[in-house]
Amino acid sequence: MSDGPSHSVSPPPSSRTSGAAAPIRDDGAERDKAEKKATTATGSLTIVGLGPGTPEWITPAAQAALDAASDLIGYGPYLDRVPERSGRTKHASDNRVEVERAAHALKLAAEGRKVVVVSGGDPGVFAMAAAVFEALEAGPAEWLVIPITVEPGITAMLAAAARAGAPLGGDFCALSLSDNLKPWEVVTARLTAALAADFVICLYNPISKAGPWQLGAALDLAAEHRAAETPVLFARAVGRPDEILRVLTLAEAIAAAGTADMATLVMIGASSTRLIAREGAAPYVYTPRSVTKSPCATSQGRT
Ligand code: SAH
Repeated sequence: MSDGPSHSVSPPPSSRTSGAAAPIRDDGAERDKAEKKATTATGSLTIVGLGPGTPEWITPAAQAALDAASDLIGYGPYLDRVPERSGRTKHASDNRVEVERAAHALKLAAEGRKVVVVSGGDPGVFAMAAAVFEALEAGPAEWLVIPITVEPGITAMLAAAARAGAPLGGDFCALSLSDNLKPWEVVTARLTAALAADFVICLYNPISKAGPWQLGAALDLAAEHRAAETPVLFARAVGRPDEILRVLTLAEAIAAAGTADMATLVMIGASSTRLIAREGAAPYVYTPRSVTKSPCATSQGRT
């Protein structure tokens, strides 16, 4: 019904004057309700994407939201990327408590604070924005009046693609290899379907502390559908001082799976993804925009 952006779940925080609409009757309960509403109307929650690392990759809109925040909430290392400022409180938390962190953010916003939840990359990609909406869905009805805004950021796969050339020039998809929130059989079923469809496949969370074997298993599966010389990108800490970009073949990637870590984005090429060699630097990786063969015809697997 609303003409507003689809992520806006309530009217913008325009009605600072809503206190003027105070109850006429001197009814305690009514007044309490109105006061609560007025307070809530001045609070807000913005979920901000900090990009992959370098401040140049933070959008001006995300920066403006950070500058306006009274409270910053997020995983410690992400919060460390936002400079300290007087009058702004940082609430650091562990990486594993996303929904509790989101509920805390909503509670503070309901109390009238200008809360910003920070995420690395884009907040909507395997990150905090979904946790906020999960907490909102499960939380009290009063939270529905909190203006919630999602400020996008550059997600890891786009940063990695930009460094490599244009590997996402054709159809592609993204999967998280983490089996914290979904069974591993779901991961393999989706991966198999994506391989059969000949997408370029971006793998987030290739390795986790709980399970270091996922990437090896995923690449073994890829080798059943793609040629051994298919380009595979290991893009580590893109946009940070310790960035490393490695262009490998699928066979080399299988051998190197143990070298990927939690800061690595892995990209498996489609059958048409190719390299342009150059002197003294890694080759460019690109996927042509046009496709002439059906996925079945291009499948070059071993089985
Ligand atoms: N919201 C983030 C993704 C969170 S999932 C985003 O949009 O980028 C965490 C995974 O993202 C990591 O395991 C890694 O696969 C990837 N990632 C995040 N930052 C990265 C970076 N700077 N370089 C490479 N991969 C990164």
